Amino acid sequence: MFQFNAPLVQLELAREITSGVIVLPDPHINLVPNIGIVIGTDAVLVVDCGLGRENGKRVFQKAVEVARGKTLLLTTTHFHPEHAFGAQAFKGHATIIANTTQGEELREKGAFYLNLFRDMDPVVKDLLEDVELVMPGETYQGEKVIDLGGKRVVLRELAGHTRGDQIVFLPHERVLFTGDLVENRLFPIFPDQDAHGTQWIAALARMIDLSPATVVPGHGEVATVELLREFQDLLIFVREEVNRRVKEEQALELIDQEGARIIKERYLEWENDMWIPFAIRNIYAELTGTPLALPALRKSREQ
Ligand SMILES: [Zn+2]
Repeated sequence: MFQFNAPLVQLELAREITSGVIVLPDPHINLVPNIGIVIGTDAVLVVDCGLGRENGKRVFQKAVEVARGKTLLLTTTHFHPEHAFGAQAFKGHATIIANTTQGEELREKGAFYLNLFRDMDPVVKDLLEDVELVMPGETYQGEKVIDLGGKRVVLRELAGHTRGDQIVFLPHERVLFTGDLVENRLFPIFPDQDAHGTQWIAALARMIDLSPATVVPGHGEVATVELLREFQDLLIFVREEVNRRVKEEQALELIDQEGARIIKERYLEWENDMWIPFAIRNIYAELTGTPLALPALRKSREQ
């Protein structure tokens, strides 16, 4: 499958993007997400925890270091392994909060995704050794506001990439953690039938309405609100491209080929183009009301 650099969170790259908000950045390695640590006077909230036990331990170590005895909270932007499967390091030490749907999605699909990721690469398999899927200890529906002491944080359900996506917004600092609803210069991932193009585009509109000053995407560089527009434009372009071809009654195979070519040409600088066929197939299924038939994931060596 992919060729991997070991997907390890690198604590030495930690940086404070605004007062009391730390990002452990994606070091440009697949399966290392951007991770956030928000520090209040009473409590510290960690946003996502990395892939597997070792990454979870690293993130936990950093959180403990900055928390200096304050209450620890963990939330996850969605259930995917590199965002949520390090949670066992926090178990018993932090309150784990997520929306109800995300918890259900983890319960339903967690074991499947664990095996899927283990099969990707031996390095990933090692990192996912002895992983325990940890369910949220506290759940909410719709929206939850947390006061960390001088830092207000809004958790909000916003599906698109998965059924249980959640954004994390700091209204005062205007910092937005998007999870994989946004990836910077990486093609959007429609991994299974629960990704939904139209909902995703609407989710982007909701995020743009928040007019964040800083956008921390699931993967890729920290950015501004411009990235939200750019990502929304991309999704709209893919949907329009598929829609036009559906209306012309093109065969799916042709849409696969021609659609992918045109999307790739327009977004030459964007990486992880192996996900383009997944986006096309997902949007095709939505627009035609037919069952989703996902392509096989192309191996990076074949690209
Ligand atoms: Zn994801």
